[in-house]
Amino acid sequence: MLATLLSANIERIGIMGGTFDPIHNGHLVTAELAAYQYQLDKVIFVPSGNPPHKTKQQITKDEDRYIMTTLATIDNPKFDVSRIELEREGLSYAIDTVKGFKEVLGEIDIYFITGADAILEIFTWKEPEKLLTECKFIAATRPGYCLSKLEDGIYEEYQEQIFVLKIPGLAISSTDIRNRVANGRPIKYLLPPRVENYVNKRKLYI
Ligand code: ATP
Ligand code: MG
Repeated sequence: MLATLLSANIERIGIMGGTFDPIHNGHLVTAELAAYQYQLDKVIFVPSGNPPHKTKQQITKDEDRYIMTTLATIDNPKFDVSRIELEREGLSYAIDTVKGFKEVLGEIDIYFITGADAILEIFTWKEPEKLLTECKFIAATRPGYCLSKLEDGIYEEYQEQIFVLKIPGLAISSTDIRNRVANGRPIKYLLPPRVENYVNKRKLYI
């Protein structure tokens, strides 16, 4: 996949990292609007391998999450999916992913796309200062999380590196979708129909 990007004259990419358990319309709207606003040539969705903050037992199998991410993104020419974190041993860290992309793609501009909750935790990630020099961050608004903290304190010196993207609020989360399935409540229109069908076919989350 990365080799394809190399030949395609790519200058700026977005990386949308997540557990994607399952991927939903909140992720897709965020990625689409980030690509538009920051003129990204591609947004690469990167399903996490072993996220440090979630144990392996808590999350759905890598291949199911990879397939759902592919099903959700397949009809958008700007979207791609990378297996970089699924194939790496050990815990998944954003810094290693960004470096991995740069090794193949050279010194292109990388925008790491997150929701408000994730950016507010960035200083708990591995080597945050280094990460903030290796790439820029697009922090999308998300209902329930307040981004005013980004204006001062520890964030002050990174004003040039972190951009806030206002998106129409979608109070959708994978946790809520999993709970809905477990309780027999509808999930239609919260995620792409193909992903909903896959969840049903594989009997995930019940
Ligand atoms: P979970 O409930 O399992 O944590 P999630 O819905 O938060 O799932 P993740 O895979 O954890 O989804 O999130 C991946 C990235 O997408 C994170 O940066 C997160 O902040 C962002 N994101 C998820 N849902 C939304 C949303 N509705 N609006 C904006 N950003 C979102
Ligand atoms: Mg989350």
